[in-house]
Amino acid sequence: TELPVTLLGTGAMGRALAGTLLDDDRPVTLWNRTPGRAADLLARGATGAATVREAVAAGGPVVVCLLDHAAVHATLDPVADALRGRTIVNLTTSTPAEARELASWSAERGIAHLDGAIMATPPMIGGPGAQILYSGSRTVFDAHRELLDRWAASTYDGADAGRASLLDLAMLAAMYSMFTGFLHGAAMVRAGGVTGVEFAERATPFLAAMTESFAASAAVLDSGDFSAPPQSLDWTGAALDTIGRASREQGVDPAPVDLLRALVRQQIDAGHGADDLGRIAEGLRVGRSAA
Ligand code: NDP
Repeated sequence: TELPVTLLGTGAMGRALAGTLLDDDRPVTLWNRTPGRAADLLARGATGAATVREAVAAGGPVVVCLLDHAAVHATLDPVADALRGRTIVNLTTSTPAEARELASWSAERGIAHLDGAIMATPPMIGGPGAQILYSGSRTVFDAHRELLDRWAASTYDGADAGRASLLDLAMLAAMYSMFTGFLHGAAMVRAGGVTGVEFAERATPFLAAMTESFAASAAVLDSGDFSAPPQSLDWTGAALDTIGRASREQGVDPAPVDLLRALVRQQIDAGHGADDLGRIAEGLRVGRSAA
């Protein structure tokens, strides 16, 4: 018989996690701060708990999927005594430092802790595209691998509990800048009478092809040698000026491109105009600006 899973938090993501387990007829005990938000899951066989303490008493791993780090502490701190000797899998989005803090908090109280970063939207949970990164206790990861794999393809990224969050939030930083770029380009073409849908048809394969260069540019970053670029910072700066002028011609604020233009200028001003674009990543590191 399978261990029951306790799930704290039945927001959009918690509901998806619980739903997948109920599909497998796995025993699930649910708690949510605001009661009455999981009626459908209870109708499908989940057990509702009135308090966190009651939910934890069901046994098995305690999966936490709440709004943020503060919500996790607000929920777990009062039941720390009941969690001694137990396992928590925290799927709440946290910063790396917050994840490490929860790891120390857990270790001090005799609680095994695994931190997960969900790279998926709720409807993707349990399906082929979902990915969850984990770091923290390898023992917990191995012991509950079957459960974790049910939700998403799971990878273990190391004992540093902050590692999964770091990778997650860095990927999201990259994603949001890419979305901003896409929306900026779409605003430009729409001001010129091209529909957003037409733009997406052109931009999607182009941007996908461009992402193929990530590996080469990452190798340059890792080597720290920016001296043999495919295109220099001087060249890129001129290209960005042209893009900025085209944007203004369309009546579209070139702010997203200006951000990159400023980073490029910073490196050119510091004498690195002949170098690779990757140098701007050095400029972003606080305290190392264009030295
Ligand atoms: P929701 O806003 O749908 O749910 C938030 C949950 O947190 C609710 O259960 C809410 O309870 C609870 N909560 C908020 N504050 C507190 C508190 N102080 N004490 C106790 N419980 C609290 O968010 P999601 O379910 O979408 O997200 C949950 C986590 O999953 C987040 O960390 C999010 O970043 C992460 N995630 C979500 C993704 C998504 O696409 N949705 C993608 C990847 C990660 P109540 O019902 O009482 O308000």
